[in-house]
Amino acid sequence: MSVLDLDFFRNEQAAYAQLEAVLWPQGPECPHCGVIDQATKIKANTPKKVRHGLYKCDACKEQFTVTVGSVMHGSHLPLHKWLQAAYLICSSKKGVSAKQIERTIQVTYKSAWFMMHRLRAAMDPIYTAAPQPMGGEGKIIEADETYIGRKAGYTKKAAFHHKNTVFSLVERGGEVRSFHLDRADKQIVKAIVDANVRRETRHYTDGATWYQNNALGLDGGHDWVDHGKEEWVRGDVHTNTVEGFFSVFKRGMKGIYQHCSEKHLHRYLAEFDFRYNNRERLGIDDTKRTENALKGAKGKRLTYRRTREQLDSQATS
Ligand SMILES: [Zn+2]
Repeated sequence: MSVLDLDFFRNEQAAYAQLEAVLWPQGPECPHCGVIDQATKIKANTPKKVRHGLYKCDACKEQFTVTVGSVMHGSHLPLHKWLQAAYLICSSKKGVSAKQIERTIQVTYKSAWFMMHRLRAAMDPIYTAAPQPMGGEGKIIEADETYIGRKAGYTKKAAFHHKNTVFSLVERGGEVRSFHLDRADKQIVKAIVDANVRRETRHYTDGATWYQNNALGLDGGHDWVDHGKEEWVRGDVHTNTVEGFFSVFKRGMKGIYQHCSEKHLHRYLAEFDFRYNNRERLGIDDTKRTENALKGAKGKRLTYRRTREQLDSQATS
């Protein structure tokens, strides 16, 4: 059977059942009072007035569905199309354009664009919990930066000062975290490392000045390869892991997304980080990756509203 034949991609009732299974493993959670598994499903009085997935809380008597408080909250689009969009963005290694979503799932371009940004918010871990630091005793982190796009106000190419700086930390065998910087320098890079990396971690970089003489101050030590002298690998010292991540990110940004303004760059970074952190090699297939994205859809209503206001103001300006 094709994945696209799955019931929850085609049928609204099945879509609600699927999202409930992912977000409510212990039964319906009332978003109003927080009580779990004490709600009654409301059956439609007439077939015409079906409201899928509607529950009434036995404790506080309020009504809710599984999308309340999520990034899908208040959307007029059917939930099975949300699941289709989530699957497409999670299963495409370099991402999927809003244009493609518009054509494939048959929604307006504007709807497709909103959906994709809301799904990126679902993939963004910074809105859920304070992240645990990366690395640790015996662990290796590669740090590197890359330059992409063009900053507002720059028309001509001027070395890479006109480009946006992306700084990424990758733990070998572990996760990536990416940051959009105004520019890379010692203070900024060190502040990010201080906030995200355990002190015992060993780190590998290239020869950029902001890493020299263990400027990041980690106790696990520092080693580097000198790209300026065509040195790429020395023993296990290299930055190939983080460069591999950049390569996928850049191919996606150039080939799929094409135009990305500075102010949205962090959203795309969240998307590419998410896919890397839920990669096949960690035993996470397309379906599981989509479920993990949907799990992040929960409790992000505030984020989503903020996003929507920002997007609305841009759409009208
Ligand atoms: Zn309640």
